[in-house]
Amino acid sequence: MTTKSMDLGEAAGASAAAIAQVEAHAAHNYHPLPVVLARGEGAWVWDVDGRRHLDLLAGYSALNFGHLHPRLVAAAEAQLHRLTLTSRAFHNDLLGTFAEEVAALCGMDMVLPMNTGAEAVETAIKMARKWGYERKGVPEGRAKIVVMGGNFHGRTTTIVGFSDDAAARDGFGPFTPGFVRVPYGDAAALAEAIDDQTVAVLLEPIQGEGGVVIPPDGYLRAVRALCTERGVLMLADEIQSGLGRTGETFACDHEGVVPDAYILGKALGGGILPVSAVVADRDVMSVFRPGEHGSTFGGNPLACAMGIEVVRMLRTGEFQARARDLGEVLRRRLADLPASRVAGFRARGLWAGVDVVGRTGRDVCEGLLRRGVLAKDTHGSTIRLAPPLVIERADLEWALDQLAEELGS
Ligand SMILES: *Cc1c(COP(=O)(O)O)cnc(C)c1O
Repeated sequence: MTTKSMDLGEAAGASAAAIAQVEAHAAHNYHPLPVVLARGEGAWVWDVDGRRHLDLLAGYSALNFGHLHPRLVAAAEAQLHRLTLTSRAFHNDLLGTFAEEVAALCGMDMVLPMNTGAEAVETAIKMARKWGYERKGVPEGRAKIVVMGGNFHGRTTTIVGFSDDAAARDGFGPFTPGFVRVPYGDAAALAEAIDDQTVAVLLEPIQGEGGVVIPPDGYLRAVRALCTERGVLMLADEIQSGLGRTGETFACDHEGVVPDAYILGKALGGGILPVSAVVADRDVMSVFRPGEHGSTFGGNPLACAMGIEVVRMLRTGEFQARARDLGEVLRRRLADLPASRVAGFRARGLWAGVDVVGRTGRDVCEGLLRRGVLAKDTHGSTIRLAPPLVIERADLEWALDQLAEELGS
């Protein structure tokens, strides 16, 4: 059976026509579930056939505040009538506020704005390399960055070059040198990998795409201590784990760890625009001088308006508290699933990876779709749950009822 007929088999009416059009004319670099969404509000979305679904993926955490949050829509609308793009050839009247407030949220000095997550990771890599040459005295062209097994940092050629996921990497070489990979969660392996030419350790404090993989307790503190001791930068990719998802502003907060740079994206744009940033102290960020890095759209006023509103929403702590409280519900309900159907799960805040038994994650997600619940599989048998932080408790409970029934318990 072709992909096309398989997908159409699940869909009907307007969905079938829309999916056929996508299959014919959009590159097949994704394998979406057979549902065509046309409208959203909060944690709910509606498809082109008028069916309602509860969104338990939230754009991989880009939609932490749900669909069309009134504060974010108002901020976007107001800015749409003022100014949307200047390029960095000129100043705009929002970049200063955006940078100051994002930096303050991170407890750091300076922000370099970009658009997508991958661009922010690339920016952090360039920053660390230059810092290594200028500040640490690493010989030019020799800088090394230690990365983790199971990492996901985006899709550029440099980034997929240090991935160990064959699908992400194979066929896209040759790759950028200068990366060393060690097992995630293994502080001893990291200690061994760091040498005089190491400029940074790049890691996700929780691996999202990897299946919500939480490192052992104390690991982030050990990474922090090693980085400080050996004079290398700790770069925390909080693109998916940050901005409230885990019940704290940053996943690093769970161990009381402050990295040398935060890499932010996804929810920073409020689910409306791609907005990303690298945040660091002045002594590190100052390695960039005019002309050495940039982006046409980075720091544009519309993006800044979204980022400012997102930071202000996070400042009250209410979304972090929701993630904590609803996360307890999620954890309790996942723990109730029978061992015959679920091999295990990992959860922190409103974020979980569930390993199913005897079925593919895809098959379970297709079953959930028929029940009006949207979730996404990763790595074969894992289902990733990342509901919008605005989800109502009763809706979350209903979705978890659907999961329990779908798994046949
Ligand atoms: C999604 C993600 C990225 C890449 O972000 P894009 O906006 O898709 O480029 C990088 N790192 C992590 C941890 C992510 O989850």
